[in-house]
Amino acid sequence: MTSTVPAPVRGATAAPAVPAPAADAEWLACGGCRVLLYRKRFDRLLGVCPECGWHSRLTVDERLRSLLDPDSVRPVTPAESVHDPLGFTDLVDYPGRLSRARESTGLADAVRVARGRIQGHPVVVAVMDFRFLGGSLGVAAGEAVTAAAEAALADSCALLIVTASGGARMQEGALALMQMAKTGNALRALDEAGLLTITLVTDPTYGGVAASFATLTDVIIAEPGARMGFAGPRVIAQTIRQELPAGFQTAEFLLERGLVDGVRARGELPWVLGQLLAAAAPAPADWGGVVVDPVLRDPAALVRRPPAEVVRLARHLDRPTLADHLTEWLDGFVELRGARDGAGDCRAVVGGLGVLDGLPVLVIGHQKGHSTEELVRHSFGMPSPAGYRKAARLMRLAAKLRVPIVTLVDTAGAHPGLAAEEQGQAVAIAESIALMGSLPVPVVTVITGEGGSGGALALAVADRVLLTENGTYSVISPEGCAAILWRSPERADDAAAALGVDAGSLLRLGVVDGVVPEPPGGAHLDPARASRLVRDAVVVAVRELRTSDAPALVARRRARFRRFGLTNDRRT
Ligand SMILES: [Zn+2]
Repeated sequence: MTSTVPAPVRGATAAPAVPAPAADAEWLACGGCRVLLYRKRFDRLLGVCPECGWHSRLTVDERLRSLLDPDSVRPVTPAESVHDPLGFTDLVDYPGRLSRARESTGLADAVRVARGRIQGHPVVVAVMDFRFLGGSLGVAAGEAVTAAAEAALADSCALLIVTASGGARMQEGALALMQMAKTGNALRALDEAGLLTITLVTDPTYGGVAASFATLTDVIIAEPGARMGFAGPRVIAQTIRQELPAGFQTAEFLLERGLVDGVRARGELPWVLGQLLAAAAPAPADWGGVVVDPVLRDPAALVRRPPAEVVRLARHLDRPTLADHLTEWLDGFVELRGARDGAGDCRAVVGGLGVLDGLPVLVIGHQKGHSTEELVRHSFGMPSPAGYRKAARLMRLAAKLRVPIVTLVDTAGAHPGLAAEEQGQAVAIAESIALMGSLPVPVVTVITGEGGSGGALALAVADRVLLTENGTYSVISPEGCAAILWRSPERADDAAAALGVDAGSLLRLGVVDGVVPEPPGGAHLDPARASRLVRDAVVVAVRELRTSDAPALVARRRARFRRFGLTNDRRT
């Protein structure tokens, strides 16, 4: 591994690299657009250019001040480590380099650790300072990150790591390399303890830091324009002898490829981090007391509609979408993106953490849209394999944090396409189905529109499966069925009736446990009220399920699916 300290930071607009800003007491030049900025205003904006959004590098002290609640910072001192294990000398000797870095920064090494609070929530923070030998990862830095993880474990609180590094510290040789394993192990201990871990990626984050603790955390947030990668851009360009694409390795580039959860401006970080910490906080024991259950469980109580009409209502563009439900129900929803496999972030699946009436929950589902533009942006709610892999990653996170999962299903089916097949659509669906059957937390599914085939079931292996009054659930679309069995897609209405895709048919089969009523005429006529009815149904279901422990939940969930189609009723 090489230490590859990249050239000066570029702005989010991918402007050409410019020299470092000229230092002046009153004014400085923006490192992104070069406009002259009044220093006091620039400081008030936390070092962000108001013209182009360029995020300057912060020192450890500036970073702690910008993130943590005032007067909450308590330093954590890591164990002593060796200073020059190899007696290393290049053009200058390593001890000389170290002492100069210490003098110029006032830091013992590249990482400082502190206990503190963000928006009132306790957290342990490890912050890297790029000024200290390029934030390179040596023994002391690795020890500091490990000490931070151990402090979070001791306090039973979340860990936040703010990264800025050129890579492993060459002057400490193989011992520097070993810090990648040491810090990785420390993070895994937090996984086992169910404690939330977050990385804030700042510019630049490379090499051994990117390939260890920076990317092993539950949530990765990056500042705009921040670059992260294993090999530095100059090394790559020299190796492949090609020009790299604009914005290569920037936060925005990584987000599009599903490698980070979000790109957030510096000013909104305390809020975003505060919401994440709130969603990982211990759940209240007494919760959900006043909501009345709206769910219908008797097929005779349902309004009978021709299945073909239900199919049309289920697809109505004015029905509340996943995004509408999230807005209507949750406090402080933070979307978490990407499967971290580089296959791209599938926008047909949207999920994240939020707080439902004081209870942390993970909500995930298919996102369609109300307009053509929105539908296109979300691939018409038809996920790629990356969408199911993202869902699986988030459901594992909920399992780790012991947070209930709510899935909202609304898809015509998984995306049928060349790339989807190449990336293993069938495998992604199968693995999601199997994963859901094993989740140790309450899982509630509501089919809010179309429940199309395996692409729907992949998010619907739940303890409670509910269907909205005009929702559908089917092994194949009526059009697809008609084309195959009637040899005519025009016979879709006949197929819809024969398949029993409507609420009454599905309730009689026991495939759904209950039906969520819709406002008269359908959810599209009063989307806000329709959303509240779904929300109330979810609250009641989660409230009931929270009384069971993990083994009981898993056993009953598996029994629920075990009995389907048997002649003897095996309900438990
Ligand atoms: Zn600027």
